Amino acid sequence: MAGTRKPVVEVRRSQRRRRTVSAYRDGERVVVLIPDQFSRAEESEWVDRMLARLAAREGRLARSDAELLARANRLIDLYLAEYPTKAVPASVRWVTNQNGRWGSCTPADRSIRISHRVQEMPEWVIDYVLLHELAHLIVPSHNARFWALVGRYPKAERARGYLEGVAAASCAPLPT
Ligand SMILES: [Zn+2]
Repeated sequence: MAGTRKPVVEVRRSQRRRRTVSAYRDGERVVVLIPDQFSRAEESEWVDRMLARLAAREGRLARSDAELLARANRLIDLYLAEYPTKAVPASVRWVTNQNGRWGSCTPADRSIRISHRVQEMPEWVIDYVLLHELAHLIVPSHNARFWALVGRYPKAERARGYLEGVAAASCAPLPT
């Protein structure tokens, strides 16, 4: 996840820069461009500020609807590859009105909604919740065929345990 590890920072000073500072990621490194006239104190202050900005930007990106769709496509490739059209949602969105459900799916218009409460959970739990809803596009009910599809995800049992634990702790209904 973005921002959990402290990246290697490379500071580049430029004589042409006056006040502007910019930063970008280059593989594992973060390059921060600063004016040559900056003092050491200014340099370290700006490096911290730019790292925070970069992490915030990447955090938003990492939990956007676009990322959710990319995640769905990856899960379809990995676990539902023989349903290249049936498993593909028309839309997949983060929503804040799920009232006790982690995710929901409307097979009629092929839309999937995932609760914002899942956003803060580990990647492998987000994957499970999403795969669960993708599998509903193929099999709407919770029958044996449905659970066989979901069971292709190696951490399905673990993720269900995680979600039941969270639900129990917050007195929310069990995940659907
Ligand atoms: Zn379900």
